Formats: sequence, structure tokens, C-alpha cells
Amino acid sequence: MKTDLVILGGGPAGLTAGLYASRARIPVVVIEKGLPGGQLTATETVDNYPGFSEPILGVELAQKMEAQARKFGVEIVQADVRLVTSTDEGFSISAEGSNTFVGRALILATGASPVKLGIPGELKLAGRGVSYCAVCDGPFFRDLEIAVVGGGDSAVEEACYLSRFASKVHLIHRRDKLRAVKEIQEKAFADPKVLIHWNTGPVEILGKGEVQGLRIRSLIDGSEEVLPVGGVFFYVGLTPSTDGFRDLIDTDERGFVITDHRMACSRPGVFAAGDIRAKTLRQISTAVGDGATAAYSAQQYLESL
Ligand code: NAP
Repeated sequence: MKTDLVILGGGPAGLTAGLYASRARIPVVVIEKGLPGGQLTATETVDNYPGFSEPILGVELAQKMEAQARKFGVEIVQADVRLVTSTDEGFSISAEGSNTFVGRALILATGASPVKLGIPGELKLAGRGVSYCAVCDGPFFRDLEIAVVGGGDSAVEEACYLSRFASKVHLIHRRDKLRAVKEIQEKAFADPKVLIHWNTGPVEILGKGEVQGLRIRSLIDGSEEVLPVGGVFFYVGLTPSTDGFRDLIDTDERGFVITDHRMACSRPGVFAAGDIRAKTLRQISTAVGDGATAAYSAQQYLESL
């Protein structure tokens, strides 16, 4: 399939870029490997996206964004991209199977995925009590104790969400201060089911076939304790999803894609938007702003060819 603009990723950044490109009458295809909406589909409610005075379900917001993009003619294709190469025509995008897409310009909006700590038991028990998605797996832990690892917005917000199912939520954080925004912190402090273990790290997940406990260690005196949890949720940050095109553009030391203020990457014709970018604030509102800018810059690039 040949088109002017190919957008990799159908989260808020990619869908917004598609919307803006389509309204500028640029032939555009958005390639998404899962459900349109990206991480939004794994978010219970969204409180801080302007325009919604009441919390909106992540899935609902994702569906609204998808419907709006489609209404303006954006083609959304479900495909798992394997390799992106630079060619005389622009960019060739090979997806799983024998699907190949060719675009004269490219917007990278594949987002980021949860970091894995790699402690003993984590990989072995993934899907058997170890999870990276509270919205997907929370209801399985009704009346059980669970642990959440991390101290950022995701960990603290999801600890509060999980407390509606669990009998107790142990929040394991390596420092004596949370990174999460104050409003989210206050919710956790006020939640009687959320117990914060300060200056503590997870050491080992116990259990055969399913999670039966989490060994934690004090980072102050090295003492250890086993928490009788049936589930462990990890929210220790994000890693950029750049498989298949890492060598095409410059990235920072953590692998996030470097852009200028126009969302242009180091290679002409490639732009990036959303969580995949090296930037300070990863929000839905910043992702959609990036997407709009990237589409405008791609339009200018295409007109200059
Ligand atoms: P994050 O902000 O990078 O926080 C990661 C947390 O994990 C930090 O508390 C960090 O501890 C801890 N951590 C990192 N490596 C660790 C390790 N090796 N061992 C133990 N703990 C470790 O990641 P995030 O919470 O997933 O959020 C990602 C982005 O999405 C952020 O920009 C966030 O603001 C945004 N977000 C926003 C909302 C919202 O606005 N409602 C909700 C979710 C996410 P330290 O604090 O000590 O570094």
C-alpha cells in the first residue's frame, strides 16, 4: 500500500496526527498493532483531559478519538510493524505477514511500554499474579492483598484503583517521597486500604504457578519481610516502543526519540509524537499536541518535496 503519510501507532498522538493530516487532505494511514487508543484502553478513568468535567473512561475516550479520526477519513490498519527502512520513495514499512506499506513521510507514535524489573519470579509468574495493567487484571484480586511497585503517577493512581477490589494494597516505593502529582498522592494517603512501604524494594516474587507472596527489603537497614500478596503490579516507568526503527533516528540514552520543536527527528521526513519522544511530561494532552504539530510539520515536508 502506497500513501503520502504513514503514522505508526494509533494512540492519542497517532490518532490526532491522522485527524490533522486528513483534514489537510493528506492521504494517510495509521498502523496500530492492537486496539486504537493505545495505553488509554488500559486506563480506567481520565480526570485531567480538558473538556470533560466528570471523569471519562479511558476506553470511552479512546473510542471517541478513533471515531473522530475515522469520520475525517483516516484509514486505520491493524498490523504489527517489524521493520522500517528508508528508500528512494520515502519509507518502507514491513509488517507481520507480507504486508508492506510505503509512505513519503512517517510519524512515529508507537508510545512506550512498562519497564520490567526482572526480579526473580517476575517473568515466570507474569499473567499468573504478576501484572502491568490494573484495569485489565484488578478484578481477579477481589479480597486479596496485593502489591504495587513504584511511586509515580501510574503506581499511586493504580494503587487507589486496585483498593476497590483488594483487601489491602501494599505500595512499595524506593524513596521517602512519591513522584506522583500531589492530587494523586492525597488520594492514596486518604485511602485506608493503601499501605505505603517507604524506602523499600521488591526482591523476589514467591509462588509456584501463581503468586503467593512478595519478598521486600528495606533500603535503610536491609531487613526483609514477606508480604502475603496474591498479585504484584509493576509501575516502574516506561520504555519507548522503537522496535523495527531504532536505527533510523537519533534517540536519547534511554531510547526515547529526539525531536525538535516541530517534532522532526534526525532523519528528514520522519517525525515523532507522544510518549515515544524524549520529553518531560507524558500526558494525553501533551500527546495530542505533539500529534497535531507532527502532522503539520509532515504536511510542510511533503509540500517541499
Ligand atoms: P514514572 O513517572 O517514570 O515513575 C516510575 C516510578 O517507578 C518512580 O516512582 C520511580 O522511583 C520508580 N522506579 C523506577 N525504577 C525503579 C526501580 N528499578 N526499582 C524501584 N522503583 C523504580 O512512570 P509512570 O508512573 O509509569 O508514568 C509515566 C508517565 O506517564 C509520566 O510522565 C506520568 O506523569 C504519566 N502519567 C500520568 C498520569 C496522570 O496524569 N493521571 C497517570 C499515569 C501516568 P523514583 O521516584 O525514586 O524515581
